[in-house]
Amino acid sequence: MSSVTARAMQVTAPGGPFQLVQRQFAAPGPGQVRIRVRACGVCHSDSLTKEGQWPGLQYPRVPGHEIAGVVDAVGPDLPLFKPGQRVGLGWHGGHCNYCPPCRRGDFMLCENQPISGISFDGGYADYVLAPASALAFLPDGLADTDAGPLLCAGVTTFNSLRNSGARTGDTVAIVGLGGLGHLAVQYAAKGGYRTVAVARGQDKASLAHQLGAHIYIDSTTEDPAAELKKIGGANLIVSTIISARAIEWTLDGLAPGGKLLVLGAPEDGSIQVNPFPLLLGRRTVAGWPSGTGMDSEDALNFSALTGVRPMIETYPLEKAENAYQRMMSGKARFRVVLTIGT
Ligand SMILES: [Zn+2]
Ligand SMILES: [Zn+2]
Repeated sequence: MSSVTARAMQVTAPGGPFQLVQRQFAAPGPGQVRIRVRACGVCHSDSLTKEGQWPGLQYPRVPGHEIAGVVDAVGPDLPLFKPGQRVGLGWHGGHCNYCPPCRRGDFMLCENQPISGISFDGGYADYVLAPASALAFLPDGLADTDAGPLLCAGVTTFNSLRNSGARTGDTVAIVGLGGLGHLAVQYAAKGGYRTVAVARGQDKASLAHQLGAHIYIDSTTEDPAAELKKIGGANLIVSTIISARAIEWTLDGLAPGGKLLVLGAPEDGSIQVNPFPLLLGRRTVAGWPSGTGMDSEDALNFSALTGVRPMIETYPLEKAENAYQRMMSGKARFRVVLTIGT
């Protein structure tokens, strides 16, 4: 095993442009697998690296945490991995094994969790040196370009739904039909829930139904809470939007015992919560991060089995700047993916 020289798209300073460079990728050390990257999703969280919004981030840094590729070389004492295996790496970049959540086996909540593309160089490159403990195996029949977004938006929606406590047949409302929402609707419908999509405008109705939603509510002409109440209230409302103001109605749309699950990070301040629906109806407000490599593998296998796929736009690695700007514009339908190697 030796180092290889290949391309990386790095950021050298907060807010600076992407820079295409040739770099050395070392032979994998203890606990590491070197991945030949085939595709990497471009996620809104990459702006933390690009714009320097993560405390302590060190430059130069290569962003990217939606990585699909092939094992190229394996560090010592990792019998599970062999060159040629298709693997993926998401946001969760391993765990420390000694913090209290790790000691309880809850690796997703590791207090010293490295993050791909933030703590170490990510997938906007030909190769990634990845922590073996964070990898997922990719199922046959799932394209690398589809696997990328499923390793972030996919596992977040899939894993939060399956751990939400909602039971088969329950009413689950997804608010927002963007990068997270278009996957959440598919997972909810394929997961056996009565699936309601809530978005702005009648033009989204056909897409919502195409993704599997049983009911569509246009929040520009209808009162979503009143509409949900008419059908008994939602057992679970999953918010994927980034406006705190725009989800304040949700508690009124919940059935008794229902839960509001917040997956979108509000950009306009804190969510105001009226305590009475919580107290009187035993309702809850909760959040969810994403998942471990094994959770990602479950999400990928479920997607391969049931046909859940992201809607994507692809760009070659050299066009990372265009891809990033397209993602940041909010106009992409719905996830942007870099194609890197074959
Ligand atoms: Zn992401
Ligand atoms: Zn830990």
